[in-house]
Amino acid sequence: MKCIILIAAPAAGKGTISKYIEDKYNYKHISTGDLLRKEIKNNTEIGKEIKSILDKGSLVGDDIIKEVFGKEFNKTKSNIILDGIPRTLAQAKMLDELDEENDNVEISKVIHIDIDKEIAVERIENRIICENCGSVFNKKLVKDLKCTKCGDNLISRNDDNKETFLDRYDTFLKETKPLLDYYGDKVITIYNNSTLEDIFKNVDELLKGDE
Ligand code: AMP
Repeated sequence: MKCIILIAAPAAGKGTISKYIEDKYNYKHISTGDLLRKEIKNNTEIGKEIKSILDKGSLVGDDIIKEVFGKEFNKTKSNIILDGIPRTLAQAKMLDELDEENDNVEISKVIHIDIDKEIAVERIENRIICENCGSVFNKKLVKDLKCTKCGDNLISRNDDNKETFLDRYDTFLKETKPLLDYYGDKVITIYNNSTLEDIFKNVDELLKGDE
């Protein structure tokens, strides 16, 4: 089971790129953000505990991430693309353990998606997502508030506003960006400042042979 890790600041395009890889290369997209938002939507015990943390843009504790991610990971047999995990050193070590303990699990690529902060802010202010499948849209470009993939409702995330974005961005710099040093030579950086077409071309280049 190949495992691609995406490391990126908020609004850099992890979700969009993950869906592209999922559709074209048949990887399963696991987004810890989507899993956590589902817990909140379903009003579970975990959901109640974490709602204010997501609204503030802080990180949820590693133990909760381990539980929520572990449940999803154990259901999965295909190659996976990890969107939003790891975000801390403890989570990176947890994934290394999965890699070491399971002969069939291999962290095959670590992709760093880089973006200018100003472009990310602009994107976040126009972003809407599907409540069900997590697909990402620009509110200026949609005809109605229905997902073109699954038909469910498109909503604005509570944490997609400039103030929370700036906190999330700082958290990224402090907690997550250092993981690029942790993964060292495994990291490939691509830039997402221009069109989707360009970024998808870069992704195709990286995944040549994976189809
Ligand atoms: P995302 O959808 O990846 O932007 O994540 C949305 C929010 O969910 C983050 O701002 C965090 O509050 C929380 N979150 C998602 N993934 C993680 C993680 N691996 N560790 C801690 N918190 C997370």
